[in-house]
Amino acid sequence: MNIVIFGAPGSGKGTQSERLIDRYGLHHISTGELLRDHIARGTRLGKIADTYISQGQLIPDQLMLEVLGEIFKEQPETAARGVIFDGFPRTIAQAEALEKMLKGYGTEVHAVIGLEVDEDELVRRMLERGKASGRSDDNIDTIRRRLDVYHSQTAPLRDFYRAKGTYHPIDGNGELERIAGDIASCLDNFKDN
Ligand code: ATP
Ligand code: MG
Repeated sequence: MNIVIFGAPGSGKGTQSERLIDRYGLHHISTGELLRDHIARGTRLGKIADTYISQGQLIPDQLMLEVLGEIFKEQPETAARGVIFDGFPRTIAQAEALEKMLKGYGTEVHAVIGLEVDEDELVRRMLERGKASGRSDDNIDTIRRRLDVYHSQTAPLRDFYRAKGTYHPIDGNGELERIAGDIASCLDNFKDN
């Protein structure tokens, strides 16, 4: 089973992904974490990524797709085992490329979990996280830009996946355990069918 965990910045994709890995034994691919790791190590990719991330912009599609392609080439077994994609795809072009890539491994995106969270709650969470995370993008100006980018470039993916019948909206406001429970029931339901 390949799952995309989808939502605005601060919607809790990373947090909920951690639980899904434990529950379903999926391989976690978080493009945000991957890029932050490159930044911390000062790699060539990290230096490029840093300029975009600290501005609240997306990394260009072509670069993002190269990075993802590398992961699959290095560990082809991950595709077979089932992946939870966290923070990817973020554009229609990325979604189309993902579809093509998974098709090459004889598989597809089975379910998209859309964490739907009110905008003021998103801002509150990211400001709170910024106090401890040291992330260059968790400050109010960059948060606003990330939300704009989300609405213009990423949110259209909801319709993209709705049209395929794979989009499952989940209320991402409120208590962590309740949200985790809702996601689990959605996926368990899905597995039985
Ligand atoms: P959440 O809090 O829900 O886990 P987030 O949006 O705060 O999500 P990440 O998913 O970690 O955080 O992304 C951080 C930044 O990394 C993005 O704002 C963007 O600049 C870059 N990035 C991550 N994934 C992609 C992608 N698929 N395409 C382009 N840029 C990306
Ligand atoms: Mg994240």
